[in-house]
Amino acid sequence: MQRDGSRATMEATERSLAYLHGISVERVKWLGGKRAGSLRERGIDSVADLLLLVPRKHIDRSQVMPLDQVEVGVETTVIGQVRRVNVRRLRRRMVIVEAVVGTDTGSITAVWFNQQYQARRLERGIEVALSGKMERYRGRLQLNSPAVDILARGRGNLAVGRVVPVYRAMGDATPTYLRMGVHNALMRSRPITDPLPLDLRQRLDLTDRDTAIASVHFPDSIQQIRPARRRLVFDEFFRLEVALAMTKRHKTETSVGIPHLLDPETEMVERFVRGLPYRLTGAQRRVIDEIKQDLGSRWPMHRLLQGEVGSGKTVVAVATVLTGVQGGFQAAVMAPTEVLAEQHYEGIAGLLAEAGMVSPIAGPFSLFDGVDGGADGPRVSIALLTGNRAEASIRPRGKTNRRELLHWIAGGEVDIVIGTHALIQEGVRFARLGVAVVDEQHRFGVHQRVQLKDKAEGVDPDLLIMTATPIPRTLSMTLYGDLDVSEIDEMPPGRKPVRTWATSMEGRGMDRVEQTIRDEVGGGRQAFVVCPLVEGSRQVEAASAVAEHERLAGVFPEMRIGLLHGQMAPRRKEEVMEAFRSGGLDVLVATTVIEVGIDVPNATVMVIRDADRFGLSQLHQLRGRVGRGSYPGQCILLADPATKDGVERIEAMVRLSDGFRLAEEDLRIRGHGTVFGARQSGFSDLRIADILRDRKELASARREAFALVRRDPTLESHPAIRDEVRVLLGDAVEWLFRS
Ligand code: ADP
Ligand code: MG
Repeated sequence: MQRDGSRATMEATERSLAYLHGISVERVKWLGGKRAGSLRERGIDSVADLLLLVPRKHIDRSQVMPLDQVEVGVETTVIGQVRRVNVRRLRRRMVIVEAVVGTDTGSITAVWFNQQYQARRLERGIEVALSGKMERYRGRLQLNSPAVDILARGRGNLAVGRVVPVYRAMGDATPTYLRMGVHNALMRSRPITDPLPLDLRQRLDLTDRDTAIASVHFPDSIQQIRPARRRLVFDEFFRLEVALAMTKRHKTETSVGIPHLLDPETEMVERFVRGLPYRLTGAQRRVIDEIKQDLGSRWPMHRLLQGEVGSGKTVVAVATVLTGVQGGFQAAVMAPTEVLAEQHYEGIAGLLAEAGMVSPIAGPFSLFDGVDGGADGPRVSIALLTGNRAEASIRPRGKTNRRELLHWIAGGEVDIVIGTHALIQEGVRFARLGVAVVDEQHRFGVHQRVQLKDKAEGVDPDLLIMTATPIPRTLSMTLYGDLDVSEIDEMPPGRKPVRTWATSMEGRGMDRVEQTIRDEVGGGRQAFVVCPLVEGSRQVEAASAVAEHERLAGVFPEMRIGLLHGQMAPRRKEEVMEAFRSGGLDVLVATTVIEVGIDVPNATVMVIRDADRFGLSQLHQLRGRVGRGSYPGQCILLADPATKDGVERIEAMVRLSDGFRLAEEDLRIRGHGTVFGARQSGFSDLRIADILRDRKELASARREAFALVRRDPTLESHPAIRDEVRVLLGDAVEWLFRS
């Protein structure tokens, strides 16, 4: 009794997916040797991987019809012997393979067009199963391009009399061998244990795992496939979300946060907000409150702030930073490009100066000239640190050197440091970093966000990640699953929508473009002209901008036209940007250095050359550079797309203005695997689930996973789930389970 009992438990654990993950695919009958090699190349290493390899499609061969009973126009499977094979060549490289197959009740012709390999497979005398729509041609029954299975003796039963799975060929592992291999693996692995508690399965109406895995391959009927797949999709999301929930819990538990001071007496934030030239939108207020809650708590904040381009994330960043500073901590703001870091520095310093909050001003520091020097109220010092520039409000412009600035940061004399990834480099030390803001997160990897946090010793600074990349909501849930999310879902009032239109770069379209620029500049507005991306060559990219600049100078002799590209000296770039911002230039010819964040409300025209070469989110970012003030903007896409994707992207841009809708469209055009790589998410790509199509499953998997981890943080009472997450997700989550 005792022995039997313990053996039963052994077997139960042995048949978990985690256990099957430990058995090499090589050991599956039919799939050894070279075939295993082909499978390995595609990431199918274990029996578990094989069992989770969902067939490309199924053919319903549950009913094989005698020929005298088949109906024309109906999907039919016929079994018989190849009597004759005939290959005919027609003009224009057309090849027709024709086979006559004899059955017990008569013969039938099968025809394939341009599938010459069929002739090589179909030898006279072999047994085959043919499936396709029955037709009648010149009085005879015929199948056009039917699916074929060769029924070798002894293994033919897999291909007939049932719903038959069809796998994608993987090198030496052909669809037929895969079918036999999977069948064999199933026979030896079943019953496969289910790690999910019964009540959860019942509540969500999920098929049990054994049935799901078996019938996603060999269903009893076509109707069984859908619920089976749904279960596997749920499982795939669930593993990921359990890992995310545990990551989040782990971070909260092991970190020592700063309960920032929210004392209204010293409220810098209110003072700053009062000094703004506009009123905050309801969404900005709400988001600032959410952030304040986090900052006041003793848990470090990990928050993602999503907001459409131009929704006003910068002031939210300033409010966040000031909340940290008012309690005596330092703050960092990291931007992905030098131009953007500089703009943030000038912009934020300008807003703070406007509110009389910048301190202490020494010397002829142009940015703060003439700003009221009223002595009351708290003040902050602010600095810029990029690869090329170091500057601080506590020193006159141009007099700060890098060493000095690093010294001030380390000594705590600078309150707010704005910069590029130079901020996370060696040698930058903060005295007491309390808050970090990362702007346009999509440009950074997860890794860099972690490094920024490491700049604070002993404590975990609060972290706000801002993004305007329209990340589809569903995708951000998986990617940033360990973050809380706030969203600015309201634009500042008075914005006019940007009208988007596309035209060819040749012929009359260009006249209209030039006229548009003339009209807008004539009315006192400004225009951007963006030159195409040149893959892998900044030099060529710059050269095309230089050429366009020259050309436009010829077209518009009366205008002041500036040039901005990545190869220019930093000082020069800054001057050009400043000239454009202050209205000293009418047109700015630029490369994509202006893609993110640039804020010049007087600019109303965005012309993008070779627009089809840009990705959708990039185009959307570029479009977001206009229509930021109270004048309506126009975005003109110059393109002669050569690819289908290119055409689709241009059409999507013209049709859609909502960034989230566009991101989903992007996902549809490109497929979700390529939007964010595994590097970003930290997990390998999903194999079965599709983030868009299966969004409902994703939502429920996430809800259940987080609830489970809340109840059972280390999954002590759910060892099967624990093992599965650890084993199937592998290295990416291994650290979570180290004790
Ligand atoms: P993004 O979210 O793209 O970073 P910004 O913070 O650059 O947007 O803001 C875009 C523009 O909107 C800026 O010119 C900013 O001054 C302006 N702005 C921000 N908030 C408001 C508001 N509540 N009312 C009016 N204008 C605003
Ligand atoms: Mg921004």
